Amino acid sequence: MKKGEFLYEGKAKKIYRTDDPGLYLVEFKDDATAFDGVKKDKLADKGILNNRLSAIFFELLEEKGVETHYEKTISEREMLVKSLEIIPVEVIVRNIAAGSLSKRLGIPEGTVMKKTVLEFSLKDDELHDPMINHYHIYAMDLAAPEEMAEIEKAALRVNELLVPYLREKGITLVDFKLEFGRHGDKILLGDEISPDTCRFWDSSSQEKLDKDRFRRDMGGVVEAYREVLRRLEGGE
Ligand code: UDP
Repeated sequence: MKKGEFLYEGKAKKIYRTDDPGLYLVEFKDDATAFDGVKKDKLADKGILNNRLSAIFFELLEEKGVETHYEKTISEREMLVKSLEIIPVEVIVRNIAAGSLSKRLGIPEGTVMKKTVLEFSLKDDELHDPMINHYHIYAMDLAAPEEMAEIEKAALRVNELLVPYLREKGITLVDFKLEFGRHGDKILLGDEISPDTCRFWDSSSQEKLDKDRFRRDMGGVVEAYREVLRRLEGGE
């Protein structure tokens, strides 16, 4: 599989075409950004860890019947994925209050939500990914109602699968962000699933094992990502 024309550079990944029009190549970078790119750094090996972690999650989800863009890992930093027309709606799934939800609603971080919360935001950095609802999504023609029904079902299924899987590894899945896209007549889960896009807390100590360590200048960011990988790869 040949790495083709460079297509797009995001904050943490670069996307290339391949010689197969139905497949793209994703390269995971070491760049870390927060607060819409205001805070930036390079974290050695983060790209390698997120490539590996995303592959583990996508493989698990595929095995359980969730359709994703993941095809295969081709190098330390690169995976092959099905080409997607990304739907510009970020889907956030929350089990425990944290981050922007805690701030917005005054719910202390760590409060277990009585019901899983789904939120949507417009994928637009310049506008700072504003929160939107179904009315906005249909009025702006971002996705069709049938597509949203499918996306919501898939997002909740991902949560149902990942919560117990991670719990067994001593990790609490607090919240996470998903992106979906169109591939032919299908909607597939895309982007990445990693400590950049999820909040992972150690189940006993509540220690943060995710990007909040970077956002909040706590240090030990890559070490925490490595610890997540260690646990998923068969550590305790
Ligand atoms: N998230 C993300 N990208 C975004 C916004 C949020 O991956 O552009 C993830 C974030 O890592 C967390 C969840 O979505 O796991 C909820 O984030 P929140 O809305 O609390 O935003 P934050 O506190 O990160 O600003």
